[in-house]
Amino acid sequence: MQRDLFLYNTLTRKKEKFTPITPPYVGLYVCGPTVYSDPHLGHARPAVTYDVLFRYLKHIGYKVRYVRNITDVGHLEDEISGEGEDRIQKKARLEQLEPMEVVQYYTDRYHFFMDKLGILHPSIEPHASGHIIEQQNLAKAIMDKGYAYEVNGSVYFDLEKYNKTYGYGKLSGRNPEEMLSNTRDLEGQREKRYPLDFALWKKADATHLMHWPSDWSEGFPGWHLECSAMGMKYLGEQFDIHGGGMDLIFPHHECELAQSTVATGKPHVRYWMHNNMITINGQKMARSKNNFITLEELFSGKHELLERAYSPMTIRFYMLQAHYTSQVDFSNDALKAAEQGLNRLLKGVSLIGKLIPSSESTADIQKQIDDAYTAMSDDLNTPIVLSHLFEAVKIIHLVNEGKAKLMDKDLTLLKDFMQAFVFDLLGLKTEEPASSQHRELLDKLISILLQQRQEAKLRKDYATSDSIRNQLVAIGIAVNDTKDGFNWEISD
Ligand code: ZN
Repeated sequence: MQRDLFLYNTLTRKKEKFTPITPPYVGLYVCGPTVYSDPHLGHARPAVTYDVLFRYLKHIGYKVRYVRNITDVGHLEDEISGEGEDRIQKKARLEQLEPMEVVQYYTDRYHFFMDKLGILHPSIEPHASGHIIEQQNLAKAIMDKGYAYEVNGSVYFDLEKYNKTYGYGKLSGRNPEEMLSNTRDLEGQREKRYPLDFALWKKADATHLMHWPSDWSEGFPGWHLECSAMGMKYLGEQFDIHGGGMDLIFPHHECELAQSTVATGKPHVRYWMHNNMITINGQKMARSKNNFITLEELFSGKHELLERAYSPMTIRFYMLQAHYTSQVDFSNDALKAAEQGLNRLLKGVSLIGKLIPSSESTADIQKQIDDAYTAMSDDLNTPIVLSHLFEAVKIIHLVNEGKAKLMDKDLTLLKDFMQAFVFDLLGLKTEEPASSQHRELLDKLISILLQQRQEAKLRKDYATSDSIRNQLVAIGIAVNDTKDGFNWEISD
């Protein structure tokens, strides 16, 4: 069952029919995290976006190799100039840890929270530090083609020459001439022939913790080079889809495209996909604004901007309510609405087993299925997919209340449809209530019991009122009589 799939291609700026280079195989590369801090909302968006793509490609019959890297070296503080301290090394220095201790800890944390969000594991998750030889070989290939040069043990990409031959800025639409006027004069820039040239290999200074021997110096690879090298190693010189956040288009993906094009002489990626960003109450997320919410804070409710905890599936559902190319704004109200929507959807699905078949059908299930596939194939339009799932939920309730009828075969269609879309493709699942929801339920439950006790006391039925109290005490609930009535607490 291979359906036509249309994807928005950043490179051509239009929606295109997806045709893999070697069907039924699909090569998908997505830029993974730089593992120096806890995963936050910004990590969840690409994870969910490309997880849905991965699931759908497989669902419609492709054999997908999904590569998502771990950046553990070479990502410097200033992404634009490619200068500053290595982010992992900085964390290691501040915490007095080995850089690889930082990498291990935050890679584990990333995996833990991605599992909570129901993100499938990629087929290969390569580490940049495990592919130093491949990166050196790629730098050599670029030098051999005459598009890179060495200065004092560092190797730089010759952007000026590349721009003249191939034209720089195909993805971002940026023009090197305009960029030049905005370039700051930073330390390290002096080595470059042209201020926009970027490092393929950097010589390590005496304080640098992570370095490897090379033909040029004891040093480390440039950030952009890793994705070119690992993409090529596992998916070939040309592959189908490259994804990432919009914030990576420039300079990361633009430089990656330049490197790979020069090294192989071929365009290396067919479809470039970019998910949009997340804002918090209308503002861009930034550590300096104190609106940087980690996934742990979201799931526990421990952040001053959060009124309470939100479950991983609520977050996932919230992202699916928007198309991946539109911006998503997080607010407590929006998250509560998402939680309600998710519960309504899952409640509907849970009723399917109770429906009784009729001898005729008065609702059109096939239409909802066809429309959902059309929406999914239209550049993964998950908000439209959800609207068809809610149409199906409406039908479920009507049948349950005896106001509509479905034949046995339509009930099976409906069941398979909801299984495929809600669970297999959108990746949602039923969750245990969060502890805050537990507490709310418990509160209501005990209030009902204490009300009974109060009523028993009022009618002087002390046997019943004492019995309720004693049974609560026996399970660890202390009841205190107060002037206005009572309160309760969990006794130690
Ligand atoms: Zn990358």
